[in-house]
Amino acid sequence: MELINNGLGDNRKGGYDRVDRWDEDTTTALTAHFSEVLKLLGEDDQREGLKETPKRVAKSMQFLMQGYGTDPAEILKSAMFHEEYSEMVIVKDIELFSMCEHHMLPFIGKAHVAYIPDGRITGLSKVARVVEGFARRLQVQERLTVQIRDCIQETLEPLGVAVVIEAMHLCMVMRGVQKQHSVTTTSAFTGAFMNSDKTRREFLGLIGEKLH
Ligand SMILES: [Zn+2]
Repeated sequence: MELINNGLGDNRKGGYDRVDRWDEDTTTALTAHFSEVLKLLGEDDQREGLKETPKRVAKSMQFLMQGYGTDPAEILKSAMFHEEYSEMVIVKDIELFSMCEHHMLPFIGKAHVAYIPDGRITGLSKVARVVEGFARRLQVQERLTVQIRDCIQETLEPLGVAVVIEAMHLCMVMRGVQKQHSVTTTSAFTGAFMNSDKTRREFLGLIGEKLH
């Protein structure tokens, strides 16, 4: 995939460089499909406000799906250091934007990630980028939670990994299937977080979560 910067200048957001990425051939094909979608929904795809919409959506979808082009394990390895530190490392309140694979609507929330190093640590920002790499795909929250956990466990081989995700699913909120504003919480643990109540409670206390 060819990577093209949209040239909009400073679009830095939330502490990372947001680079819009799209492929010209994919954009052309998607644009035709989204025009068709508009017509099937009863719209006039040639009216002023919609003229550029299929192309915008085509680019936007590629941005939202850019996780397919990333290898989160490689991101972790790119900043892996030997260190004897063996206390819990927590990265909390990582902003999370993902897309539900059943309805292709967003789910948004926060991820909290912790690990207990066993001789290897990684850059804190890399943990957030692992979350992003898996989130920018079509997902279900449960799988996303486990993928983040397994990636950190298999790459850093720490004494334990904990991942908690709290997210609001627009497919639930907008379609009125369940209580509005309800937040779905998922968690996944390995090692010390699974085997030790004390360690798990310490983590949950530090992220302010009241899981049972
Ligand atoms: Zn959904």
